[in-house]
Amino acid sequence: MNASIITIGDELLIGQTIDTNSAFIAQEFNKVGIWVKRRVAVGDVAGDIRAALDEESKQAQIIILTGGLGPTADDITKPLLNNYFGGKMVIDPKVAEHIEYLFREVYRRSGPIEERNKKQAEVPDVARVLHNARGSAPGMWFEKNVDGRTVVFVSLPGVPHEMKGLLIDEVIPRLLRHFKFPFIVHRTAFTAGMGESMVAERLPDFEAALPRHIKLAYLPSYGIVKLRLTGQGHKEQQLTDEVDLQFDQMTALLEDIIVSKKDEPIEQVIGHLLLKQQKTMATAESCTGGNVAHWITRVPGSSAYYNGSIVSYSNIIKEALLQVPAGVLRAQGAVSSETVEAMVKGALQQLGADYAVATSGIAGPDGGTPQKPVGTIWIAAGSQDRIVTKLLQLRFDREQNIEITTMQALLLLRR
Ligand code: ATP
Ligand code: MG
Repeated sequence: MNASIITIGDELLIGQTIDTNSAFIAQEFNKVGIWVKRRVAVGDVAGDIRAALDEESKQAQIIILTGGLGPTADDITKPLLNNYFGGKMVIDPKVAEHIEYLFREVYRRSGPIEERNKKQAEVPDVARVLHNARGSAPGMWFEKNVDGRTVVFVSLPGVPHEMKGLLIDEVIPRLLRHFKFPFIVHRTAFTAGMGESMVAERLPDFEAALPRHIKLAYLPSYGIVKLRLTGQGHKEQQLTDEVDLQFDQMTALLEDIIVSKKDEPIEQVIGHLLLKQQKTMATAESCTGGNVAHWITRVPGSSAYYNGSIVSYSNIIKEALLQVPAGVLRAQGAVSSETVEAMVKGALQQLGADYAVATSGIAGPDGGTPQKPVGTIWIAAGSQDRIVTKLLQLRFDREQNIEITTMQALLLLRR
């Protein structure tokens, strides 16, 4: 099943708005097995929108449009679609009532509703109206015969949270019913400590023996490799059992490098482990500037095991708040195994935690020396009994160096 996404708006073409709508739609479609074949962005120009509709409907059976449904003059999509599908504009009483409700109860407006907003209740009589609980512009579903096959066109508002709500609540369930889709089952695990191709070296026989309706995808990022098995079939239970069986075989081949057998981020893995052991952790961060703390605290419920952080960006703070010995800083420098080890000790003590991680390095783009070039980063993790340190030599930009260091520090803690 192929889909095409048309995003509408001059703001997308001049780069003022980044098109996040397409990415969201593509991700959600991917989960249910709809393949997004093409993505097109066009301005608020009738001729361009028409041309895109003509072209995309030759390519795909599902066309999703976003944007241009608002009450302002630049929003031309609705009358254009009416014209394109040969309908006439009629007031939809349910939409009118919903707009009335939004203005009175949600936006708390008194006085008469403006004509341009009332007009939002007008829809082409050839469209099926999709209720937009979050805003005034409804979604619209059209069907048209193109070269002997039915193509579905769905027009959604451009406002991201309205578009998302409509897509999840209305559009996807309707598409699944309409096209009688096969079931999709995903199972994801992730590994660390080995590159994508080395992981693949472990699995040639497994991959060769996979049944055709189950596919394996490698998704490497930041030093981990996610492995996703996706099965497609018409009998849900049978498919689930088949994918589970393959998943067990695959993970058994990777036991020593598997971090998690679920599609969850590293900070969640750490959280589960700490909760299970009823232990706490803390962080002492230099070059990551609080990013490790940020990752940990984006897990709901992390207050049960996370004590806090000392962001010791300067040597003064490393000394004063983490008791890193001045001699170590002088002799070995802030970016050294000895410093991150002392930072872990300091965090354990000062923040009263069972475990701690520390980072110190040169994230770039400046600050490198011939001995310690940009990307030289030390990390450490451990407890009162045992602290391990590790040198990273990264060669990415500042932002990526910080993200990878965060990932590696949490992986080191897990060991
Ligand atoms: P409204 O009722 O607000 O006018 P609309 O359907 O007319 O909704 P637009 O006017 O095109 O939609 O866009 C509304 C808002 O949504 C704008 O702030 C715009 O930047 C944002 N937006 C539009 N298209 C996208 C997109 N593809 N990705 C992310 N944001 C978008
Ligand atoms: Mg617009």
